[in-house]
Amino acid sequence: MLNSRAPFAVLLVACAAGLIAGCGGNSALSNLSAEEAAIIDAPPCARNTAAESMGMPSEERIFGWIRDLTLFGNRRTGSIGGMKAAAYMKCQFESLGLVDVHYETAQTMSWEARKSSLSVAGEPIDSSPVPFTMITSSKPNNFSTPPGGLNAELVDIGLGTPAEVYAKGVKGKIAVFDLKFLVPTLALAPLMEFFWDPGLTIADPSSLNPNPFQTQYSYIIKTIVDAGAVGYIGVLADYFDSNKYYNESYHLQLPVPGMWVAPKDGQKVRALMAASGNATANIVMEGKSNGEAIGRAVMGVLPGKSKDTILITSHHDAAWNGAVEDASGAASVLAQAQYFASQPAESREKTLLFATMDSHWTGYEVHKAFGQKYILDPNSPYKVVGDVSIEHIGKQGVKDADNKLKIVDQPEYRGIFENLSPALKQTMISGIIKHDLRRIALLDAVALCPTVGIPTDAFSCVAGVPTASLIAGPNYLYDEADTLDKIARDQLVPVARFFAELVEAMDATPSALIGVGIASPVVNPPSLP
Ligand SMILES: [Zn+2]
Repeated sequence: MLNSRAPFAVLLVACAAGLIAGCGGNSALSNLSAEEAAIIDAPPCARNTAAESMGMPSEERIFGWIRDLTLFGNRRTGSIGGMKAAAYMKCQFESLGLVDVHYETAQTMSWEARKSSLSVAGEPIDSSPVPFTMITSSKPNNFSTPPGGLNAELVDIGLGTPAEVYAKGVKGKIAVFDLKFLVPTLALAPLMEFFWDPGLTIADPSSLNPNPFQTQYSYIIKTIVDAGAVGYIGVLADYFDSNKYYNESYHLQLPVPGMWVAPKDGQKVRALMAASGNATANIVMEGKSNGEAIGRAVMGVLPGKSKDTILITSHHDAAWNGAVEDASGAASVLAQAQYFASQPAESREKTLLFATMDSHWTGYEVHKAFGQKYILDPNSPYKVVGDVSIEHIGKQGVKDADNKLKIVDQPEYRGIFENLSPALKQTMISGIIKHDLRRIALLDAVALCPTVGIPTDAFSCVAGVPTASLIAGPNYLYDEADTLDKIARDQLVPVARFFAELVEAMDATPSALIGVGIASPVVNPPSLP
């Protein structure tokens, strides 16, 4: 059975309409081990009044937060590193003087492979297990290929189109396909409202490099599993020389094992297949998925004069040790928290709600619970009238002549998906130029927000909250290569200043005028398709 998860937009709407049980937070807390309890139940951190914790933080301080988050190991949902990251954000919010600092939880899942290997025609092939494969309905689910591994004939289905799948026949076989990255930076051009690129770097061919997010993966997987494949080898055809690819867009739970291989190993697999006629592969995979893992958002508040609230958000979970994805975003939320906590409360018309999320890779369960409780529920203590979301402050990644990852010392192309008023658009344009946020575009999200949503962590846009959401898609984003050296350090303070000024402008704008002709938030969600 292929258990496909509905898009976040649909699920948030379903939660709003009361169509899905268990959408609320704080339900079904699983038992914590002593080690986990020591992390999660740690006493609150004391207020830090040192000079460095006042005003706009320095580059060194923001980078320090990023470094700290990368030291916890991977920050996958349900992992010790994930819990440490949540506890760290909670402690920082407390030490910066936010109030009502606490976790919001939701039941989600975890997945870890303890062991995996691939061989083709007896030759070992360097590979990495595809996350969220080999999941069965039993929970918790200890999964394992048969003793000695899964042995089956290979079949090459190329790009994995239905025509290829059904022409070749995958039943009982291990399918080999090319995973393609589909959307280059330039493809966003139709959404561009403004682009700051004084060096005209967009003329460089690297603007045609596709990001690693949008692929044909979900489509292929559904086709081959429905057609009876017993496993698969995904060749990362557009990737640099790595198989440590952990895309967040799966939200698919697959009953069969899958393995990623780097482009050069894909060539090796196909050469072995060609040499031996009908080659067989051996896949070994063992691990555990827990359907009762708890995801944790961390939130904190700076009260203003009114219940009208601006949400400032990112996420602290990460597939690997994640520097750009998304220690950079979580640290940017801390920068906003420090800056605004240093201002007198009387200076704020509106309340500021800071939050970092978990469950990016498992299906956004935490986002949904948070959105239900604080945005959609009419009894929410906050009326969220604007959303600022900050992610991925990283350098550009390209491939060199040997297909190795190469980092260019300039920011990755980035965009701010937004549906703010003309006056606030002008604030953003002025801010982009003033702070020289190079290689950045304003992207029109008016049509996207109420329909398919935007490809960022700004989960409230789909519920009608006016949003400005910074995002970039460097090619190393889902790889263990996302380390501290990828951070665009010189951008940390300019980005923080830009968003602080935007939040101040949103604070000074009457709530009904923050968005582009959108009642905020939308009360009657659109019906389910
Ligand atoms: Zn991110």
